Amino acid sequence: MITPSPQTQQARQARAWQHALRDAFKQPAELLRFLEIDPALPQLEAALLGAFPLRVPRGFAERMRKGDAADPLFLQIWPAGAEALSVEGFGLDAVGDRLKLKDGGIVHKYQHRVLVMATGACGVHCRYCFRRHFPYSEALAGRDHWREALAQIAADASISEVILSGGDPLALSDEKLAEFLDGLDGLVHVRRLRIHTRQPIVLPERVDDSLIALLRRSRLRTAIVLHANHANELDAKVAAACARLREAGASLLNQSVLLRRVNDNVAALQALSERLFDCGVLPYYLHLLDRVAGSAHFEVGEDRARALMRELSTRLPGYLLPRLARETAGLPAKEIIAW
Ligand SMILES: *Cc1c(COP(=O)(O)O)cnc(C)c1O
Ligand code: SF4
Repeated sequence: MITPSPQTQQARQARAWQHALRDAFKQPAELLRFLEIDPALPQLEAALLGAFPLRVPRGFAERMRKGDAADPLFLQIWPAGAEALSVEGFGLDAVGDRLKLKDGGIVHKYQHRVLVMATGACGVHCRYCFRRHFPYSEALAGRDHWREALAQIAADASISEVILSGGDPLALSDEKLAEFLDGLDGLVHVRRLRIHTRQPIVLPERVDDSLIALLRRSRLRTAIVLHANHANELDAKVAAACARLREAGASLLNQSVLLRRVNDNVAALQALSERLFDCGVLPYYLHLLDRVAGSAHFEVGEDRARALMRELSTRLPGYLLPRLARETAGLPAKEIIAW
């Protein structure tokens, strides 16, 4: 018998996560059948789904409760009819204003940190996300884009941290990521790499030998900021993926969004923080919703958010409290509302 070479094994694994990504649920009716939910459940008309259709990896759907249309994971991805409602204060400019992309897909808004939009693609489509109105092309991660981003970072010695964001940067192939990370390694003023990704949560297969090798190879101190909103998202496979990332030397943090019916109660927030810590992840930000069109049904008011944080602070050690934060245009940092 011939033992496959490590390269062959890595190629096979790469196919495994890419296959899982392609195999995600994309038809609402098929997802409802799988979840044993009444097919009469109202959903956004196909015409309105447009550039942001349903997308749910099967492994993520398996963590939802069967027959429960109020499941907190289901609510995050279901294209509910309420998205079509036009609600005052929820528009498109809240986002455009925030993301002033420069050449190379760079957003340099805060001192010493620069954010690079690696790709517009994601492993899951979260209905509350600003991304729905920001269909940056997947071509964003082409060679020239990387080159341009690296040139800009190279030219600014004040940048000590580079944040890969998106979309989801781990939707990119390892070959593409390697090209960029190798380039960063050569820039002496860059000390830290940060990766903002939901992929290890919704598609833990993504954390494979090849990605781990890539992370180990980099000289940069690395923080991976995950995105989970509910404890049920963190099953045993996700816990194993987190353990591997930590073994590769990455510090793990989590950001969530405060979402009505999903996690807007103290018990859910407490369980999330505790489950994250079980997985070796510290809570970082709890964001107030971006007021983007189609997401109004997810909003939790600021007063209620503050009250939840007050109650949460009596139940958890300080290191498991996320910072309640909001993104406000024009400020030199994210606005921390409660901690
Ligand atoms: C959120 C964000 C960052 C990172 O902010 P931290 O407070 O360091 O997490 C950097 N750049 C942009 C444009 C951001 O939106
Ligand atoms: S950017 Fe993050 S929150 Fe938005 S759709 Fe993609 S995975 Fe979901």
